[in-house]
Amino acid sequence: MENTLHIIGGGLAGSEAAFQAAEAGVQVVLHEMRPKVETFAHQGGDFAEMVCSNSFRSDDHEQNAVGLLHWEMREANGLIMRMATEHRLPAGGALAVDRDAFSASVSEVIRNHPNIRIEEGEITELPTEGNWIIATGPLTSGALGESIACETGADSLAFFDAIAPIVYFDSVNMDVAWMQSRYDKGETEEEQKAYLNCPMTKDQYEAFIDALLAADKTEFHEGETAKYFDGCLPIEVMAERGRETLRFGPMKPVGLTNEHDPENKAYAVVQLRRDNTLGTLYNIVGFQTKMKYGAQQDVFRMIPGLEDASFARLGGIHRNTFLNSPTLLDDQMRLKSRPNLRFAGQITGVEGYVESAAMGLLAGRLAAAEIQGKTLETPPLNSAMGALIHHITGGADAKTFQPMNVNFGLFQPVDGLKGGRRGRKDRYKAYTDRAKAAWIDWLSQG
Ligand SMILES: Cc1cc2nc3c(=O)[nH]c(=O)nc-3n(C[C@H](O)[C@H](O)[C@H](O)COP(=O)(O)OP(=O)(O)OC[C@H]3O[C@@H](n4cnc5c(N)ncnc54)[C@H](O)[C@@H]3O)c2cc1C
Repeated sequence: MENTLHIIGGGLAGSEAAFQAAEAGVQVVLHEMRPKVETFAHQGGDFAEMVCSNSFRSDDHEQNAVGLLHWEMREANGLIMRMATEHRLPAGGALAVDRDAFSASVSEVIRNHPNIRIEEGEITELPTEGNWIIATGPLTSGALGESIACETGADSLAFFDAIAPIVYFDSVNMDVAWMQSRYDKGETEEEQKAYLNCPMTKDQYEAFIDALLAADKTEFHEGETAKYFDGCLPIEVMAERGRETLRFGPMKPVGLTNEHDPENKAYAVVQLRRDNTLGTLYNIVGFQTKMKYGAQQDVFRMIPGLEDASFARLGGIHRNTFLNSPTLLDDQMRLKSRPNLRFAGQITGVEGYVESAAMGLLAGRLAAAEIQGKTLETPPLNSAMGALIHHITGGADAKTFQPMNVNFGLFQPVDGLKGGRRGRKDRYKAYTDRAKAAWIDWLSQG
């Protein structure tokens, strides 16, 4: 087997993958199209450019799933975390960085690594031979995107995400909400109770529409032209088309009986659908939105039953190239139809700098082990890295798959701990303690 690893894309994921594989002793060729070919978001020619915010989010590794991912990457000699820590700026509990100094220092390490060679230029087709990691990110160039779509089928590669917000099941008030599928459809009781329903009176509906129309929205970036397709209009755009549109769309109240108040028909109903096999996460069906994050929380907490909702992910619509990973990738991040090609970073259907870098770290290590003839198992489900890779390659529902942040809803519950808000601190500490032990164990096998 050829022992060179080619990586396409020197972003957060590709840089980390290159570093990990090179440190393991593999010869790496890193292909990057910038600065020859630009994207609408990147500004310079350095590697690991942070295209928007300068924050890697929470650094709390005991109470926060992103902080835990930081911890796991640091333990694994992660380059992105090392440089982020070196260039950190004061930001309370968040890991914010001096973005230019950060990218420059990642670039310096990559350019000077004895096992890494850089090749500038766009790769326009999926390679047919050799070992490759494709880490071209949300703004994968058009030609390569088309070539990927040819291999995977056009339906399995998206060019926009349409993210509906996701809430933690244990933060929903079940004295108000109830479980029922429309018209009790389904063969089994589980199917007949697949949806979580939140009822609204006429007054509540009118107030909700007012808040939706008034909420702050984000604009598309220049060059990020939005072609909404009918199935995924933002809810506020639907509301702008007419105050009743939502009541005849995602909020229609038909085929449902409120078990807490069976005599009264709800004026509108918001439905939430299970988002993972564990049943810890539910997405608000049809509620993709361009509302700003703060506004989303205020508006969605007006929904009866969601007054105290905790959000695992807020909604959005962005230019974003990503695979339907649950159907296309195996748990070693290889394309099932072409196992010499691995994918890493945001294109695998994770969301965010940290998650993308984490998937780069993993792909780099898995590819290096394979090239060196070693067996490296996928990380355990109880680690943050394992929870994320398991979600995108199998745990998520392939039919409704949308990009995902790391969050505790992806973790298997720890037995014997109190649910709800009160038990949250102990629960999170138990998750992170368990994850750290699992991660250290996995690293010792690598
Ligand atoms: C406009 C925008 C704003 C965002 N804001 C945030 C934010 O604030 N916070 C956050 O956490 N996440 C944000 N994200 C998500 C963020 O981009 C990703 O999480 C992260 O950069 C993805 O890392 P990556 O390595 O997968 O891709 P990237 O970092 O984008 O790296 C991909 C690299 O591949 C190169 N490339 C593409 N195609 C080719 C090709 N054919 N040949 C050779 N090279 C190629 C690109 O030039 C790029 O350098 C944003 C995304 C976008 C598009």
